[in-house]
Amino acid sequence: MHPVKVFNVTPRLPEGLEPLWDLAYNFWFAWNAGIEELFAQIDYRLWQRCAKNPVEFLNNVPQATLRELAADAIYKERLAEAHQQLQRYLGAPVDKDFHIEDERQPVVAYFSLEFGVSTCLPIYSGGLGILAGDHLKSASDLNLPLIGIGLAYRQGYFRQYMTPDGWQQERYPDYDFEQMPLTAATAPDGTAAMVRLNIGDRPLAARIWKAQVGRVALYLLDTNIPENPPDFREVTARLYGGGLEMRLWQEILIGIGGIKALEALGLNPKVIHMNEGHSAFAGLERVRLFMKNCGLSFEAALELAASSSVFTTHTPVPAGNDRFPPDLMQRYFEPYSRDMGLAFKVFLALGRENPHDDGEPFCMTVLALRLSRFNNGVSILHGKVSRNMWKQVWNQYPVEDIPIGALTNGVHAPSWVAPDIQSLFDRYLGPNWREDPDCQRVWGQADSISDAELWRTHERLRARLVDYVRGRLIRQLTAQGARKADLQVAQEVLNPEALTIGFSRRFATYKRANLLLQNKERLIRLVTDKERPVQFIFAGKAHPQDQAGKQIIKEIISLCRTEECRYSMVFLEDYDMDVAAHLVSGCDIWLNNPRRPLEACGTSGMKAMLNGVLQFSTLDGWWDEAYLPDNSLGWAIGKGEEYEDLEYQDFVEIQTLYNILEKDIVPEFYDRGHGGMPRAWVGRMKNAIRQLGPRFNSHRMVEDYKATAYLPAYENYLRLTSDSFARARELASWRMDMMTRWGQVSIHNVRAYEHESIHVGQTVTVEAAVALNGIAPESILVEVYAGPVGLDGSFAGRTIYPMEPAEETQDGMRMYRGKATPLEAGRFGFTVRAVPSHPLLLDPHSLGLIRWAS
Ligand SMILES: *Cc1c(COP(=O)(O)O)cnc(C)c1O
Repeated sequence: MHPVKVFNVTPRLPEGLEPLWDLAYNFWFAWNAGIEELFAQIDYRLWQRCAKNPVEFLNNVPQATLRELAADAIYKERLAEAHQQLQRYLGAPVDKDFHIEDERQPVVAYFSLEFGVSTCLPIYSGGLGILAGDHLKSASDLNLPLIGIGLAYRQGYFRQYMTPDGWQQERYPDYDFEQMPLTAATAPDGTAAMVRLNIGDRPLAARIWKAQVGRVALYLLDTNIPENPPDFREVTARLYGGGLEMRLWQEILIGIGGIKALEALGLNPKVIHMNEGHSAFAGLERVRLFMKNCGLSFEAALELAASSSVFTTHTPVPAGNDRFPPDLMQRYFEPYSRDMGLAFKVFLALGRENPHDDGEPFCMTVLALRLSRFNNGVSILHGKVSRNMWKQVWNQYPVEDIPIGALTNGVHAPSWVAPDIQSLFDRYLGPNWREDPDCQRVWGQADSISDAELWRTHERLRARLVDYVRGRLIRQLTAQGARKADLQVAQEVLNPEALTIGFSRRFATYKRANLLLQNKERLIRLVTDKERPVQFIFAGKAHPQDQAGKQIIKEIISLCRTEECRYSMVFLEDYDMDVAAHLVSGCDIWLNNPRRPLEACGTSGMKAMLNGVLQFSTLDGWWDEAYLPDNSLGWAIGKGEEYEDLEYQDFVEIQTLYNILEKDIVPEFYDRGHGGMPRAWVGRMKNAIRQLGPRFNSHRMVEDYKATAYLPAYENYLRLTSDSFARARELASWRMDMMTRWGQVSIHNVRAYEHESIHVGQTVTVEAAVALNGIAPESILVEVYAGPVGLDGSFAGRTIYPMEPAEETQDGMRMYRGKATPLEAGRFGFTVRAVPSHPLLLDPHSLGLIRWAS
C-alpha cells in the first residue's frame, strides 16, 4: 500500500527562533564558524549525526528542545545578531566595476561539474570541486555578479569504507535534497524552473535546485524526476560514475542544459567561465543561440561567444581530458551540427587537435580552447605544461605564444583557517584578513603574532586532530565489527605531542601516496623513535575504477596495521571537507610528493599553509612558485627535476625525502627552547603565513580573474553586440578575409644593419619586406622575434619588438623596420614574423594565423 500523497512536515520554530531558517538555507555558515556553533549548541550529538547539515538538523530537533531554547534570552540575542550580520552581508552593493543596472542580473556564469562548498553538499570529488566552491565564496565576499551552474548528484561521488583487509569499498547512499540547504529554483513567473533538451533524439527534462552561497546563487540540475525514462533519471545519479556515454550525457546536460537553465531562470549572463572542459558544450550552445536569436553567421556567433568566454584547464595528464569517439559524437550531435549549418566534419574539427584527421576523437579541452579567448592553467608551471600539451591546436606557433596563460589557484581563507587561528588573525592582523586577504599590508602583520601564542594554538589544534582521528577510527572499526583489542589501540592511537605529518588527497597514482613506503626500514625507524617520535595520517579516495589507486591504499593500510606502526600511522576513511579541515590545521607537516609536472596546482597545501602547517613537497604545482631555496617557508623534495626513468626518479626522491626528514625536519621540530617552543620552526610558520597568505588565497585569484578575464570579456560582449551586433559581424568578416588571404602573406629580405659582432645593449635595426596580399597594414602586426640562441641553434628565450610599416617596394611589397637590443652577451639571433591584428581581437594569436620569415 502506498500513500496517495506525501508531505514534508517541517517543525514550527517558536517565536524568536525563525531566523535559524535563514541561517540554515545560506551556505554562508560554511565560512562562519559562529553560525555553526549556534546550531551545534542546540544539540551537539544531533548536529554531528546530521553531518553538520543545518536543514536536516532543524527538521529533527525535538519540539521540546526548541521550546526550551525559545526561553533562552541570551541565545536569542546572539541569533538575532548573527541574522543581522547575514542581512548586512547580503545587502552590500554589487561591484561597481561592472556598471550593471539590474543588480539581480549576473554578469558571469561559472560552470563546473563539481562544487565543494560544504561537507553537507557532497557533490565534489577533490581539488577541482573545492576550488569551484572557494571561487563562489570569494566571488560572494567580493560582491561579484556571478552565479554557478552544476549538477545535483543524488548519490554524490561515493562514500568510502574498507574491508577488514584494507580494500576500498564504495557506498552510494541516496541523498534527500529536501533535507539539504537547497530550494527549488523558480522561473520569473514564480513556477518551478525546468530545463528541457534533447539528448540525441530523446527528450530529457531536469528540475533546478538553488543553493545560496552567500550572495552567489548556485543552480544545480537534477534529472531524477518521474517524467524521465529510467536511464535518464540516472544522468545526475553520480559524479564521475558510469561509462563514456553517461559522461557525454552529463556534459550535454551541464553545457547545453546549463545554458537553457539560464533562460528558464530569466537570467542573462554575458560571460561564461568553463571550469575544466566538461562544460565546453555551453560554448557551443551559445554559438547556436547567437545564430538563431540574433541572425549571426556561424563565424560571427563564434567570435562573440569566444570573446566573452573564459576557460580554465586543470589536467596535465592527457588521459584525464575527456575524449569521445567520432561515432558516439555522431549519434548525439549530427542533427545539432545541421541545425548550426555545419557539415559534421567541420563540427568535429572544433574538438580535434588536427582538424584533418578523421580518426581523431572529439576532445572537450580542444573544444573549450577554440570557444574561449581567455584560456589559463592553474599555476605558472601548469600554464607552461598546458602550452606544450595543446600546442597542436595552434600549429606553426612557438610554444611561448600558445594563448594559454597561467592564473594560480587560491583557497578561501575564512573557510579553511581553523577558528582558533582565526581569532589570532583577528587580533593581530585585524578583521581585514577576511575581506581583503590579498592585501600585503594586512598579512605583513603576521610577524607581530606572538610566537608563544601561535605555538600554543597550533599544539591545541594538533591535540584536537588526534582526538578527532581516534573518534573516527573507533567508528570505522566498530562498523567493521573489529575486535576489542583493535578498539583499544584506536583509543590510544597517535601522540598529541609528536611531529605529525599529513598526507591526504585523491589516490591518483601520480600523487605517489606510497612513495614513503618504498623504504620501510627508514619509515619504521622514524615512527618507532621514542625520543623524537614521528607519526603519519593518511586519507583519500581512489576512483572506484582505479585498481592501482586502491592497491596503494591497501598497501598503506597493511603497514598501519603492523605491530611497529599501529600507534603512529593511521589511514582515515572517507576523506571529505570535514576531514580535510581537521588535517590541514592539526598537522605539523603537509607532505605532497606528486610526480612533477603532473600536479596542476594542488590546493590542500595552501590550506595547510594558512594554518601555519609547513610544506614538504616536490617542486610541482603551486609549490614550484611558492618555495624559496633558503627553506624559509618550508622544504622541497628535489630541485624540480623531471625524469625519463620513473623508477629511478622514485629511488632518488625517496632518498632525498628521508634525508631531509631525518636531518632537517625532525631535529628542528624537537629543538625546543624555553617554554618547550621550537623557535626556528615557529619562525617558518610565520614567514609562510606572511608571505604566502596574500598570494595563495582565492580572493586574489578571483580578483585576477575579474581583472584579466571577466571585465575584458564583458567589455568584448558589450562592444561586439552594440549597433545590432555590427562589430561581431565586422570581426567575423574580417576574420574570414584574413583566413583566405593569409596563405599568400610572405616575408622576404630580412636584414640587419650592424656587423656580425655587437655589444650588449647596442641596438640593431632590422628590416624586412612583407607581401601583404591585399591586407591593409593596420590589419597585420609585423614583429622582430629575437633572443639568445642555444647550442642546438634554436631560440633559448625571446623578446618581441614591433616593426613599423614604411615605404612600398617596387614589386608591391611593404617595407617594415624595427629595432632589437640584445640584453645579454652571447649568441643572439632574430627572425621576423607577422600575425593578424584587429582592435576587437584581444589576442593576435587566437586565430592561429602566423607567418615566419623563410
Ligand atoms: C583541498 C582538498 C582537495 C585538494 O587537494 P590537493 O592538494 O589538490 O590534492 C581534495 N579533497 C578535499 C576534500 C580537499 O579539501
